[in-house]
Amino acid sequence: MSARPYVIDEMISAKAIAARIEALCREIHDEFDGTDKLVVVGLLRGSFVFIADLVRELDLPIEVDFLEASSYGDGMESSREVRILKDLRGAIEGRDVLVVEDIVDTGHTLNHVTRLLASRNPARLKSIALLDKPSRREVDFKADWTGFEIPDEFVVGYGIDFAQRNRNLPFIGKVRFIDGPA
Ligand code: 5GP
Ligand code: MG
Repeated sequence: MSARPYVIDEMISAKAIAARIEALCREIHDEFDGTDKLVVVGLLRGSFVFIADLVRELDLPIEVDFLEASSYGDGMESSREVRILKDLRGAIEGRDVLVVEDIVDTGHTLNHVTRLLASRNPARLKSIALLDKPSRREVDFKADWTGFEIPDEFVVGYGIDFAQRNRNLPFIGKVRFIDGPA
């Protein structure tokens, strides 16, 4: 829990997210059309809502797996050293893989994870992030598909937390601290 009182201002509506996912899935479908060996890999925990909506919009035979990398912890600052806290259950050698992330910020997380997965010799490796903050980049990384580019704001909702709260908001909002008593 944050000790400082804050409010959440809506930034991207649930409707806008759904429309963007439909458009993204048409492109993803074109890329993977004909494959019967696609594994969709969600990065825990922030991508769990996004991957749920994404796979239900994808008319392809898929498997789903999850990987957890170290992240912000309970704060608002990125850690540059990425550690794997929970690895995939399945092997991906020779498989088509789509990695699903909530936000690309400094780029360290997806850069590290895609390098690790590439070393396991998948047939094809692609990545998608719902949100991208290009102004924050520290390593040169670009996801193959991005939902929305956003400015350098701390966001929550649609799976994304602030100190583990607010993941269940149906929209993306930004945290605004308010001064004085709540
Ligand atoms: P990276 O800096 O490695 O690109 O991103 C690290 C992680 O920080 C991402 O997996 C993402 O979940 C998280 N992150 C980046 N920006 C935000 C944000 O605005 N809000 C929250 N809650 N997490 C973020
Ligand atoms: Mg994350």
